[in-house]
Amino acid sequence: MNKFAEEIREVVFETSSLSLSNPKALREITRQDLLQRLSDASAEEQEKELNTIIEENSSLFDQLNEANAEIAKLRSKNLSLNSQLSERPQVEVADDSEAEVVHIPAAAGELRFYKKISKNGGADRLVVTRECNHKSWDIAPKAIQAQKGIKKLEGRDDWRTLQHCGGCTNGGRWRVQW
Ligand SMILES: [Zn+2]
Repeated sequence: MNKFAEEIREVVFETSSLSLSNPKALREITRQDLLQRLSDASAEEQEKELNTIIEENSSLFDQLNEANAEIAKLRSKNLSLNSQLSERPQVEVADDSEAEVVHIPAAAGELRFYKKISKNGGADRLVVTRECNHKSWDIAPKAIQAQKGIKKLEGRDDWRTLQHCGGCTNGGRWRVQW
């Protein structure tokens, strides 16, 4: 009984959101208490006492099962939240300091670099950024989301060339010749 009560307490402490509905019954189930009650009682009372204990035991067992189920649920929720966190795209913090506060539209003939910072519906959210150190620019014919993002940022889509860096990670970098 004591071990059982201890297990229940541990479960309750582990799961602070749970509370037992009958802590009084828990406190009463101690070995001394039990032995005292049984030795003092008549046969009839002993049987009654035993029935009560069996009921309490069964009820506590149910509560333990519920608590364990709740813990399993919380653990799996925790796992899923953690994996969602690690799947979030990492933003290059150092580069973000260079992100412009007020956007100045691109001029004709200008060569601009853009960096994807997030996704916004069907378009990428881009900011003007510096050139990277890679030398792997290639024409990206299927860059629909980036094209939409650049059009949204600059208000036009009449660039001469649009290239994608094969070396940049974390969303990618674009080179646009206006
Ligand atoms: Zn690059």
